[in-house]
Amino acid sequence: MLRHIGARNYADAIALVSGEHADVLNACRDLATAHGLHVVGLLAKPISADGLTAMIEAALNASGSDVAAVDVDIIPQDIEDALNNGDFDIHYQPKASIRDQSIVDVEALLRWNHPRFDWVSPAAFIPLAEHVGLIGDITEFVLRTAISQAGRWAAEGLSLSLAINLSADCLHERHYPDMIADLAAEARYSPERITLEITETKLMRDHTMALEILTRLRMKGFGLSVDDFGTGYSSMDQLRRLPFSELKVDRAFVHGAHTDLKARAILETSARLGRQLDLKIVAEGVENQRDLDGVTALDCDLVQGFYLARAMPADQLAAWLCDWVSIGGEQASA
Ligand code: C2E
Ligand code: MG
Ligand code: MG
Repeated sequence: MLRHIGARNYADAIALVSGEHADVLNACRDLATAHGLHVVGLLAKPISADGLTAMIEAALNASGSDVAAVDVDIIPQDIEDALNNGDFDIHYQPKASIRDQSIVDVEALLRWNHPRFDWVSPAAFIPLAEHVGLIGDITEFVLRTAISQAGRWAAEGLSLSLAINLSADCLHERHYPDMIADLAAEARYSPERITLEITETKLMRDHTMALEILTRLRMKGFGLSVDDFGTGYSSMDQLRRLPFSELKVDRAFVHGAHTDLKARAILETSARLGRQLDLKIVAEGVENQRDLDGVTALDCDLVQGFYLARAMPADQLAAWLCDWVSIGGEQASA
């Protein structure tokens, strides 16, 4: 049935209703999504008016993404042009400490100010950039821009740590540890305040080289985070082999974990594992108070997500920080 609806390119929202076990409903949702359908909610039979209302409200308030998911072909030349024309920029998403709800950290997220699509998510072009060998130029731009910005904030008295995403492809470049350390020195920004978030979406080509580079980065004082933990290759074996200092649980196990028992189990297990390995634990994808309650109960260190704030341009951060009271407080920008 879902395959048939998908084949007709049905574009409207779909709610799945069934008397089957929640696991089966979840699998149906994934299947529907794989067929290109837009699922707004799941309802177990018998349906109640309250359940239906809650589902519709949640669908209406759904946060979506803060940047455009682009559905057109991007070619390598577009990326090169964007680099040369200065069309890339960095936005910064705050992270809060669970302990006292202060903003202690920002993650630098690459944005493409595309002439036709407004701000484009890096998810739309990083894989291509990796494939055609442009990721090095992009990464250098991100490191240079974000570290010098963090240095300026520090000079203005803003005490913020900085997280930067590093493609696993960069872990084959021997000069990276020295280059990043030089950038930090130039910006008068301590390496201890920089965490490099590494996501492995594909197997590393050369483990020995990656191990050497990551170890040198740690010896220079940088933090290393395993991003999107629990997905792809970002798994337990990584934690055993590589010198990570932080575990960042993927948002698939954070948002909605109060209703999804399997996600909850993976979230709990990841947090426990992080504790046992003496890693800092970050939960990403906190979109509402219930997500926040869940990760607070698990004693995570930092939280990040739309419930606190979306990524914003550098020049908006200081004003946002002045308004920030606490998560869930009146001025939190959900
Ligand atoms: P990531 O490192 O896991 O970054 C978090 C992504 O989740 C960001 O998407 C952010 O906007 C989004 N996000 C944050 N809070 C929430 C939330 O509460 N709910 C939901 N649904 N999403 C949330 P973005 O900026 O589109 O980035 C996507 C991915 O692209 C990043 O995932 C990261 O892997 C990669 N990326 C971003 N910037 C860079 C970069 O400078 N270099 C490299 N190599 N990769 C980058
Ligand atoms: Mg990240
Ligand atoms: Mg992530």
